[in-house]
Amino acid sequence: MLDVREIRQDFPILKQKIHGKPLVYFDNAATSQKPQVVIDTISEYYQVYNANIHRGIHYLAEQATEAYENARQKVADFINADKSEIIFTRNATEAINLVALSWGRDNIKPGDTIVLTELEHHANIIPWLMLSKEIGCQINYVRIDEEGKLDLVHLNELLKKNPKLLALTHVSNVMGTITPLPRIVQLAQEKGVPVLVDTAQAVSHLGFNVQKIKVDFLAFTGHKMLGPTGIGVLWAKKEILENMRPLLGGGEMINEVSWDEYTLNKIPWRFEAGTPNIAGVVGLGRAVDYLNDVGLYTIREYEKELTDYAMQMLLEVEGISILGPKLAEERGALAAFTLDGIHPHDLATVLDAEGVAIRSGHHCAMPLHQKLGIPASARASFCFYNTKDEVSVMIKGIRKAIGILGK
Ligand code: PMP
Repeated sequence: MLDVREIRQDFPILKQKIHGKPLVYFDNAATSQKPQVVIDTISEYYQVYNANIHRGIHYLAEQATEAYENARQKVADFINADKSEIIFTRNATEAINLVALSWGRDNIKPGDTIVLTELEHHANIIPWLMLSKEIGCQINYVRIDEEGKLDLVHLNELLKKNPKLLALTHVSNVMGTITPLPRIVQLAQEKGVPVLVDTAQAVSHLGFNVQKIKVDFLAFTGHKMLGPTGIGVLWAKKEILENMRPLLGGGEMINEVSWDEYTLNKIPWRFEAGTPNIAGVVGLGRAVDYLNDVGLYTIREYEKELTDYAMQMLLEVEGISILGPKLAEERGALAAFTLDGIHPHDLATVLDAEGVAIRSGHHCAMPLHQKLGIPASARASFCFYNTKDEVSVMIKGIRKAIGILGK
């Protein structure tokens, strides 16, 4: 059982008031808050052992290198991967771009197809659109149904065209849909199609085990999983990374250099040119420890109950329609919705005055909003430090907004 009162003590930001009201932070899908231990870990690096990694043999350099590589091990263990397969990037966006610009350029040819889904965040659309414009490949999107679930019959049809890649989200940041990855990966593997999964919205809520769900590439981002901004992860199978070209050249990624030639370092360092975000990596490692201490099973059970409760409460408000699957079981810890006659930005403004932070807009999923025929939606997204009482505060705020802005 999760003791939410105790958990909340770990997150200093939650203690503050916004516009004189206790902060209710429901924008966790945009970025999560950070526990004190993560903040302390970052500050300890700068205060106690700040040094560049891998190159120095002095005490601090060794300490910094050890902390950096230990954090890589923690991230690897978190998704049940090998340490050499963990590449640190700036964020999930950069991780996906790295695949598109390196692996994609070498493996996708003019006339080839790539399969994405209608659920994707811009981060998993634009890199492929850019590639398609560069090399002349085609993109197909797996359709979703009314509830925001993927049409697996359509997916199968698209897989029959022998695409070079299937790239899809684990949890939609708008519909909340959890995509049925075991089944999807099986279908793709039957056709020999590599799979990239964007687990930015899922890895800290549902976990990911790359030995169980045998995808080829996995992208996620530190700041949505209690870690700092500016640090993300690309995981890929060793055989793929061994044959993938680095995107950036410079220090760290080489073995031998002459005026005319260079040899590449081993993976993963081959893909980490220049001084990396050392503080970000050690902070992410500590965030992973924190998630493990609370326990992913406990997190999922708590967030599922909270999401279910929030959905029930939202649906009691006249004029609210929730996007995505009806069952909390089938969705991540978020609920995006529309409210008849009130623009999401106006709703978010009224809620902000009540201390409640929700997101309004297209949530970096413009094509999906076009498909749904709505310009924008409001989104409340949760973390295990949120409470049912906070949901009640939001609902009260929504009713207030209806009183002020409604017809
Ligand atoms: N994918 C999904 C599903 C997301 O929700 C987000 C962030 N909103 C991203 C990718 C991109 O994450 P980042 O901006 O950290 O690269």
